[in-house]
Amino acid sequence: MKTVIITGASKGIGAEIATLFAENGYNVVINYFKHELKAKNLCNKLLKMGANAIYCKADVSNEDDVKMLVNTTLNTFKSIDVLINNAGISKFDLVQDTSLDDLNKLLSVNSVGTFLCCKHAVKNMISNKCGKIINISSMWGLVGSSMETAYSMSKSAIISFTKGLAKELGPSNINVNCICPGVINTDMIKDLSEDTVNTLKENTPLLRIGTPKDVANLALFLASDEASFITGQVISVDGGITL
Ligand code: NAP
Repeated sequence: MKTVIITGASKGIGAEIATLFAENGYNVVINYFKHELKAKNLCNKLLKMGANAIYCKADVSNEDDVKMLVNTTLNTFKSIDVLINNAGISKFDLVQDTSLDDLNKLLSVNSVGTFLCCKHAVKNMISNKCGKIINISSMWGLVGSSMETAYSMSKSAIISFTKGLAKELGPSNINVNCICPGVINTDMIKDLSEDTVNTLKENTPLLRIGTPKDVANLALFLASDEASFITGQVISVDGGITL
C-alpha cells in the first residue's frame, strides 16, 4: 500500500486530495497547523471508509516540525511514496502596504515550506529509488497578480524549484511536478465579493470557478504509474483563465 503526505489537508483543496487518495487505497497523512478539529474529523471520516489515515500537526515553515512530520509518517507507514506540498496562505495588499513581516510569512509558508518538506521527504524516496512530489503553486505564480504581488512571488518560486528538483531527482526515479490552480472554491477566496467572483467566472473560458476536486483529480493522476514519464511540468487547472 502506498503512503501519501498532504500538507495543509485540514480543509479546502488538501482535504479533497486526502479524501480522493484514501478512496484510491493510499495510506493518508493529513498535515495541518491550526485547524486540529477539522483534521481530526477528516481523519475519522477516512478511517470509517476503511482507509489508513493519521493526522499530524506541523508548521511547514518550521524545520523541526517538518522533520517530525516525516518521522511520524515513516514510523507509522514505513515509506513515503507521494508528497503533496499543498499548505499555503495568501494576503491581499498593495505592494506599498505589504509589511516585511507579511512578505516573510508568505515566503516562509509557501516557498520555504515546500522546500523543507521536499528536503526531508526525499531521503526515504531516494533510498527506495521511487517517489512522486506534487507542488501546488497558483495561476498567480505564473502570471502575477495585482494586489497579491508577495503571494505571486512566493508561488513563482515553487515553479523554478519544481523544475530544478525534477532534474536533480530524475536519476533516482522520482517525479516532481507542479499544479497551478486557478480560482478554486475554498476559504482562500471567501473574502472576494460576489461581483469579483462573477467577473472571474466571466473571464474564464469554461465560465465557472474550479472545485477542490478539479485539482485533486490531477494530483491523483500525477501520483499514478500512468504519469511515470511526466516530470518537471507545470500544469494549470484553471478553466483557461490564464490563456
Ligand atoms: P485553505 O482552504 O485556506 O487551506 C489552506 C491549508 O493550508 C489549510 O489546511 C491550512 O491548515 C494549511 N496551512 C496554512 N499554513 C500552514 C502551515 N504553516 N503549516 C501547515 N499547514 C498550513 O486554502 P486552499 O484554497 O485549499 O489552498 C490550498 C493550496 O492551493 C494553497 O497552497 C493555495 O495557495 C493554493 N491555491 C489556491 C487557490 C484557490 O483559489 N483556492 C488558487 C491557487 C492556488 P490549518 O488551517 O490547519 O492551519
